[in-house]
Amino acid sequence: MQSRVSLPSIRLDRDYLNSQLATAPVLRFEHLPIEWGDLRFLLRATASAMRTHEALEDRDFRRVEALCRDAERLPGALRSWYEATGPKAAPIAADAEGLEPVLLQAMRPFLTRSADAVMAKTDLVGWTHGTCPLCGGDPDFSVITVAADRILICGRCSARWRFPQLTCPFCLNGDRGRITSFASRDGQYRLNACDACDRYLKAYDARRAARPVMPVVDAVATLPLDAAAMQKGYK
Ligand SMILES: [Zn+2]
Ligand SMILES: [Zn+2]
Repeated sequence: MQSRVSLPSIRLDRDYLNSQLATAPVLRFEHLPIEWGDLRFLLRATASAMRTHEALEDRDFRRVEALCRDAERLPGALRSWYEATGPKAAPIAADAEGLEPVLLQAMRPFLTRSADAVMAKTDLVGWTHGTCPLCGGDPDFSVITVAADRILICGRCSARWRFPQLTCPFCLNGDRGRITSFASRDGQYRLNACDACDRYLKAYDARRAARPVMPVVDAVATLPLDAAAMQKGYK
């Protein structure tokens, strides 16, 4: 579906985008090229698959169905989910609360298409926050480059931006003594956990790799690291 999603309705010129980056995430909800028929299809398909695998309660499945039938409430619920993260986060509306994993999967093609279009125009270097410069989402994976920089990858739109290697992107704790780091046995993956906020982020170490990062594959390949981090009380 992603290949036929339109471009976002934001001005795609480098100077404009860089000037927007000085203040807030650049992609606002109204920029997203949402095609509502496709979105409802994706919401229903995601909710149905998640219910089949017991990852969604019946009650929440019915909430998704009700939202899909209500052309007035659906945009408000999505906007609220979209704006409930980032430096200027607002509280999430009751209509969207608890449905975040379903909304994320259904919105992914529109978010990724938008992020790709913006990233083709700017390298996002003006951004210094731990949340995504485009959509305001949290990072959910990262890459350590050959030059030993850390690039964070947004868990919503897949945008990538540079961030200091030993600072926690979630609470900005920069005290090295309170960052716990460990690696997979082959050294291919690393995990940094923060002893201030107890959150962690995994990384693909491209210095030891023959291929580029593949976030979906690498997220699964690193499940043992997640288990190790959770056993130590990180989340
Ligand atoms: Zn993002
Ligand atoms: Zn932290």
